Amino acid sequence: MDLGIRGKRALVCASSKGLGLGCAEALAEAGVDLVMNARGADTLEREADRLRSQHGVSVQTVACDVTSPDGQAQVIEAAQGVDILVTNAGGPPPGMWSDWERDDFIKALDANMLTPIAFMKALLPGMMDKGWGRVVNITSQSVRAPIAVLGLSNAARTGLTGYVAGTSRQVAPYGVTINNLLPGIHATDRADALDSGVAEQKGISMDDARAERAATIPARRYGTRQEFGATCAFLCSQQAGFIVGQNILLDGGATNMTM
Ligand code: NAP
Repeated sequence: MDLGIRGKRALVCASSKGLGLGCAEALAEAGVDLVMNARGADTLEREADRLRSQHGVSVQTVACDVTSPDGQAQVIEAAQGVDILVTNAGGPPPGMWSDWERDDFIKALDANMLTPIAFMKALLPGMMDKGWGRVVNITSQSVRAPIAVLGLSNAARTGLTGYVAGTSRQVAPYGVTINNLLPGIHATDRADALDSGVAEQKGISMDDARAERAATIPARRYGTRQEFGATCAFLCSQQAGFIVGQNILLDGGATNMTM
């Protein structure tokens, strides 16, 4: 399907690996020029080179921590005038409700709620002026059904979801859509980090931890970054212009609910 976005320009935050990279790859395949970001410059440059040569798009890189004020300023400067924004950052660490202090919450809120909000605030006006824009926030299935050990993530991402619910309706009259993509478990470094915690806690191998988790998913497997990226690119397409303020779950059926 031609997504109708060839020649547009997108910022994809936290995109040298995993789900962010999946989104960057799918947008590049659709002919979208990119601004890519991650903290580690080596992997970022390697992936940017690969996308330039595979898809003939222009890719600008900004190596910095997207959750810091200085990092945000650098990325926003490079991304002025983008048509598409994909927000993303690393997820908060797992833990126990009784251990988290105020500073832990501030860190999680900064990374997974206030950072995407800062990017929207900076880049939505340019999209509204042009009368066309797409924003996709990478959140989590924990917005729909809490994951107890990820209480910091549950809290921060639900706050972002509330913000998007209202804001998406305010910018829709200008041809700009904002939607959230809610990953269930996908085969990335983040999933490896969560599985290694389980393996250590239960005294089992990583393979066994993965197999146990996969058995809880109706699809009986982890998602791939390519599947995730393709959904993101569709939400950024011309065809998705009537999808506004939605929370789209990509979890292989793991969240047991009717709607
Ligand atoms: P990942 O495989 O660990 O990749 C994270 C990417 O983000 C890397 O490119 C990393 O590069 C970059 N990054 C991390 N922190 C950054 C920061 N502060 N500033 C700039 N770049 C940063 O993670 P993922 O699985 O793609 O997860 C992406 C998001 O989805 C996370 O918030 C995660 O919690 C959430 N999520 C993932 C899953 C899953 O199963 N994978 C499920 C639910 C939710 P550098 O390290 O070089 O910065």
